[in-house]
Amino acid sequence: MPELKLSNKHFTLKFPGNTVFFEYWINGSSRPFCFSFPVFEIGGITAQIRIDHWEKPILVEEFSNGVIEYSLCGISTLPDLWIQLYIRIANNNPIVRFRYELFSDKLCRLTKNLSSGGITYFGLNLSEFDRFREVRLSEFNEMVHSNHLTECEIDDSWFESGSSIMGPIFISMGKNRSFLLAYEHGSQYPDRFLEFQLYPYRSLALKAVKANYLHNQTIGGEIPFETVWFEAGGVSGDENKLAAEYRDFIHRYICINQESRKPYIFYNTWGRQEKIKWAGERYLTSMNLEYTLKEIDRAYELGIEVYVLDTGWYNKTGDWRVNLTLFPDNLQLIRGKLLGYGMKLGLWFNPTTAAISSDMLMKNEKFRVTQGGNRDEPYEVWETEKSVGLCLVSPYWEDFADRLTQLVKETGVTYFKWDAIWQYGCDAPGHFHGDEHCTEHDRKDRYAYMLPIYMSKVIEKVTRNCPDAIFDFDITEEGRCVGLQFLAHGKYFAINNGPYYHNFDVSEQWKSPTADGNPNIFVNPGPARGWFTRSVLDYDKWIPSVLFLTHYYPYEPASSQMQNLASLMLGQNGIWGEINSLPAASVNLIHRHLAYYKQVREDITFSTLVQKGRPGDSCEWYEKINAQTGKGVLVMFGNTGGVYHYITSASVNREVIFPDSVSVRFDSKGRAVVKVFCKEKEAVIIYFGVKDSER
Ligand SMILES: [Zn+2]
Repeated sequence: MPELKLSNKHFTLKFPGNTVFFEYWINGSSRPFCFSFPVFEIGGITAQIRIDHWEKPILVEEFSNGVIEYSLCGISTLPDLWIQLYIRIANNNPIVRFRYELFSDKLCRLTKNLSSGGITYFGLNLSEFDRFREVRLSEFNEMVHSNHLTECEIDDSWFESGSSIMGPIFISMGKNRSFLLAYEHGSQYPDRFLEFQLYPYRSLALKAVKANYLHNQTIGGEIPFETVWFEAGGVSGDENKLAAEYRDFIHRYICINQESRKPYIFYNTWGRQEKIKWAGERYLTSMNLEYTLKEIDRAYELGIEVYVLDTGWYNKTGDWRVNLTLFPDNLQLIRGKLLGYGMKLGLWFNPTTAAISSDMLMKNEKFRVTQGGNRDEPYEVWETEKSVGLCLVSPYWEDFADRLTQLVKETGVTYFKWDAIWQYGCDAPGHFHGDEHCTEHDRKDRYAYMLPIYMSKVIEKVTRNCPDAIFDFDITEEGRCVGLQFLAHGKYFAINNGPYYHNFDVSEQWKSPTADGNPNIFVNPGPARGWFTRSVLDYDKWIPSVLFLTHYYPYEPASSQMQNLASLMLGQNGIWGEINSLPAASVNLIHRHLAYYKQVREDITFSTLVQKGRPGDSCEWYEKINAQTGKGVLVMFGNTGGVYHYITSASVNREVIFPDSVSVRFDSKGRAVVKVFCKEKEAVIIYFGVKDSER
């Protein structure tokens, strides 16, 4: 039988027969990367999969974003065992996604007896490289009260000492080429479910750490063991080239649903609800039809495209029916108005809770969560009926997905905001995360491992019926499962208002500075809020910032409005607050700048951020200009008055819009040479490739 191959513009995968590995070749290169096949512990014996022969690859599906999925069946040399290898490839990108299913013709059990420890998913020799780095996605920074991206250099001592690292991304860099490995799961650093185990002489293996399977988990017949998706890819070039390709992979190819990648302008009612609450009212005071219809008119005037009703639109959790006291027409006027404006409707959900009197709870009573073996006490969910926890890693997941699908038909909702999903949510037996033979501890860990997988299953089920649905997952607090699994299906709601008073060691009188007890520090106009909310732009080197939604306030003075708009345009794309009370001048200013932004937002989303200066420095520069078109923005935040200079990295389109305090000329390479006269704390936006039809 001839050697099997799959290839695209960038790489070729080769699958020799009678081996323990497959090969990834960068096209035109002289040596491959060899991925060893998984090692399992089956019935107490460690067994490496050795493939006797492969059956011909099957093209499973060609997706709308150009990704093709193949499936290969590998017959193992071990009796009765075979693996199904799934591979997703996009022609224009060097990153391949792959995952395994392990099948057995006879019933057998995965065990956890040996000290060798569980599963090794693959191993790899990286001795040709001399620099290595861990890229973490889920480090929660207490100072800014948000997840952000961190990178850690790995030198030979890490390999020699047999250390392990969490990732989920591992980068190898050499003279002429660079290589990336990653796995798609999610948890807060340093809580790891998989890890890269390092070995002397620069080799590495991706291993299961905990809860990837249960001791004595059966496989056999139709029931396989399934892995998460893994990612690998190499380029002839340096780290920056690799990062740009990976960023493009996250932008266009990891997620079938491209709607979640589009730089719409989002509005969410929560910022307004909080403000009204601090003024002595209730979160739900303004949650009604009349106020909402007016607010949609205003949102449209501002240039907002996705209107999200946060918590309070529903009658009770679990059933997720519209509260007909607040919205007597079941959101139909709202739906019609949004449709007329070409806007989308979004709704808030807590997927892990159901009200005491809900039909959903009655049907799924068996799938109530327990913590420490005890059911939770009913708790009020944002001024609505008391609710209890339901376990998403149970058959309930499908009822929840079905309810979301019905809501698409009933209300026109296509944007789903998910909140309050805690990773360690349930330790009950009899769900999909362990039975009474497991310990409570093992069931809890298994729930945490399975949670991102079941969140993805819900999304996949809903998007089969509603391909344009966008899902966002609120990760504004610690303890949420942050990683690549969710980014393969949606986007993150990254940061609310940054830190609270209680995050800092302030004196008692400052802990609750106002009578209303508002714990948020950064909700006022001015530059300070942006110093914190811009922290998530760290991700943009590897992951487009458009996947880290954050809302900005629209309030006067104009200097603050410009600071908020300038931050928004770098990719976080959200607005919230009391927009109904904005004066006409504010509405005009915001509309005008968002109209400029919309002319170049695709270029901005496509471009990797070039940043000079950290948030709060005398001067911060953020360049997002598409090198191919010269279109985009250059944004400056001046925190200290003075004259500042900048030369763009990209050559620019010469249709430029900028304020009077700025001078722009062009050098011989077509780059913009910019000088800003900054009087006080202010933000300046310079648009390239934008027509001024708005004035
Ligand atoms: Zn459970």
